[in-house]
Parts: sequence; C-alpha cells; structure tokens
Amino acid sequence: QILYRNLCRSLQILPSENENVSRLKKQLKHLKLATVCQEARCPNLGECWGGSEDSLATATIMLMGDTCTRGCKFCSVKTARAPPPLDPMEPENTSTAVASWGVEYIVLTSVDRDDLPDGGADHLRKTVQLMKMKKPELLIECLLPDFAGDKFSVEKLATSGLDVYAHNIETVERLTPWVRDPRAKYRQSLEVLKYAKEVSPKLITKTSIMLGLGESDAEIKECLTDLRSSNVDVVTFGQYMQPTKRHLLVKEWVTPEKFDEWAEYSRKLGFLYVASGPLVRSSYKAGEFYLKNVLR
Ligand code: SF4
Ligand code: SF4
Repeated sequence: QILYRNLCRSLQILPSENENVSRLKKQLKHLKLATVCQEARCPNLGECWGGSEDSLATATIMLMGDTCTRGCKFCSVKTARAPPPLDPMEPENTSTAVASWGVEYIVLTSVDRDDLPDGGADHLRKTVQLMKMKKPELLIECLLPDFAGDKFSVEKLATSGLDVYAHNIETVERLTPWVRDPRAKYRQSLEVLKYAKEVSPKLITKTSIMLGLGESDAEIKECLTDLRSSNVDVVTFGQYMQPTKRHLLVKEWVTPEKFDEWAEYSRKLGFLYVASGPLVRSSYKAGEFYLKNVLR
C-alpha cells in the first residue's frame, strides 16, 4: 500500500506549496475550523488549497461530529449507535469561520446520523444558508448521507442554496452489501441522486466510486450507466486503500492507465466532468470542474 501510494505520488506532478496554501494555513490558525484536508493528511492538499488558473482554491470540512451511526467496511470513522448531540452553534460558527477564510470552494461533508429524525438535514441546510448569506460568492458542495432515502431530507438540502449535491455510490451493485453499511442500498443511493436533481434541476449532482474492491469491468460499466440514467453529472474514481487491518482487503491495485480508461469511458457516456486517478478522493480539486464547465 505504501509503495503504491509513493509510486502514484511520484507520477503526479505535485506543485510545491504556493502562496495561496501558505496564506490559507496562516488564516486557519486564527479560526476554529478543523479541515478534513489537514486531519486526514490528504496528499492532495497542495493542489486543492493552492488553486490555479484551472481550479478554485478548495477545502473540505466535516460537520455533525466525528462519530457516525453507520459502519461501512472501508471507512475508519468512529461509530456509535447514539453519538453526542449536535452542536446547535455549529451552523453559525462554521459559517462565520468559512466566510472569513480565503477558500473559493468549500466541500461540506458529514457523518451519517441515523439517530436524528431528519438525519441532520435541518442542521446542514441551516449551515449552507448561513454560508451563502455571509459570503454569497462562495461555491458550496455538500457530500451528503442517503438520509435513509427520506425525500423530505433530500429536498431540504437540494433547495438549500448549495451548488453541488454529492452522494457517493462507493461501489458496484453486487459488492454494496459487503462494502457499505447494510442500511446503505445501491438503488436507494441512485434514487437520492435522481430526486435531488428532480427537485432542483439546476443543481450539479456528483458521485464517487472506489476501485480495487473486486469489481469487474462489466459491473463498473453497469454502474456508470445507472448513474447517467439518474442524471448524475460528475463522477470521480479513486483507488480503495485499506485504512487498518480490520477493514476490507484491497483486491486489486488499479493502474493509472486503467483510471484514464475509466475517465475516457465516462466522458463518452456523457458525464459533464470526471476526475480519475489512484489518489483521487471525491473532493479532489472539486472546484476544477466548476471553473471549467459552469463558470466559463
Ligand atoms: Fe464512513 Fe460515511 Fe459509512 Fe459513516 S456512512 S461509516 S462516515 S463511509
Ligand atoms: Fe481536502 Fe479533499 Fe482536496 Fe484532500 S482531496 S485536500 S480532503 S479538498
């Protein structure tokens, strides 16, 4: 795993820390804001925070605590049946901090909160609305739970003012019961993405697929067709990496060339934007497609 990661990194032309990255780091010291980028020591930080002519400066933060009610077999986030209650001040405090920070594109992600009647939809909606109120030019992508398929919750977020509605399908249909928590269903995820677009047709919808879990090419093609049939606009592909020995084993180390093939195949299917590579994560340079496809 380490060898693979290093090899991929050496194949990437990673920019040295540019002025933008240093500026954002400096600003962050004065804000009470924990980013996934720093806490997960994400290898893409320089590219995402740095921004460029082709990409907006992008960062990811996690909302609704650090404990999830689900237990997906690929994920190392802490789990509990009843995590601590939500911080009622989080929407206000986070929106103030993000609005005064220098990022142009923010990805809000969260744990799943099946213990809450609306899965936390109101809390997330309020956060998005406050951010847009305090900094209207900020572009917001939310990587959201499936809300157990609850359409009211999906609608609350789809109409909150966010720019990109993201929900990860994670893997192909056959592997879903082994890879994701049993409450996450492949068809349910497709329905969520489809419904978000139906409620708010101007939204960009986005999903991510992990490769290397034992999926076949035919199954990936089927999954991509299902996603396009659900009007999903953006797809990303990344290599699954086993976070600890207790998690699912990696079945295959997918080559960079194979990632390129999937990007090409997906573009031909009609996805608006595709990011595909071994170290790509769903929020990798998330602002890039927006700059290239929506703002230009
Ligand atoms: Fe991890 Fe998300 Fe699954 Fe929770 S729902 S265990 S945060 S992947
Ligand atoms: Fe942050 Fe996501 Fe980029 Fe990693 S890929 S640096 S978590 S925005």
